[in-house]
Amino acid sequence: MTDPRKLMARLGAASPALVRQMQLGTHVVSMPDFSAQDIAAALTQIENKLARRIYEWFWWPAYSTASNSDEITKELVNRFARHINLKKAQKKPSGFPQLNKAITKKGAIVAVKRIAHSALVELAHRNDCKHCHGYGLAPITNEKKIGIAIGNCPKCAGNGVIPISKSKRAKLIGIRYSTYINNIQPYYDWFLNEIKDLEAEAVRQHSKALSNE
Ligand SMILES: [Zn+2]
Repeated sequence: MTDPRKLMARLGAASPALVRQMQLGTHVVSMPDFSAQDIAAALTQIENKLARRIYEWFWWPAYSTASNSDEITKELVNRFARHINLKKAQKKPSGFPQLNKAITKKGAIVAVKRIAHSALVELAHRNDCKHCHGYGLAPITNEKKIGIAIGNCPKCAGNGVIPISKSKRAKLIGIRYSTYINNIQPYYDWFLNEIKDLEAEAVRQHSKALSNE
């Protein structure tokens, strides 16, 4: 089964992430002949609703709206609250620095929302690796420097995408760089990993549902 993300383009005009893939030519692969109905029907079989919403927001342009991102952000914040409560119940340290001191004006909840939303936006707008232009592949030389082969890009480990800089993240959230480093980074990393895992889960389930069509 090919990457079902690419099939999402058949549901309407392409999302920014997909436009980038099309420019790169990475979407040009033979695709089984799924109709828009097949693709949409398979989406309904994604059991994790939040995973499905994130996946749709990333790849289905009609769903890439501000109100949907607000809803997703709210659910991510609730998920974070459940995570913290679980740690408390287990009497384990949360591992997150106090937020109140870092962002007193906006309050902790607003701060967590902004962090969650910024992580969502970062992942939705692929930051393509400049070394391999998003392909994930680059010429590599062996130890003896004889000959050149094509392999996983050394700059992005073959991901094609690289994390944005910490200073850019601070700007995206609207805080100082030092605040990001001292207080916010563990929160941001938590949301990035959570969103990545949820999207990957939706991709697996969409793929599975399509192969059962
Ligand atoms: Zn690269």
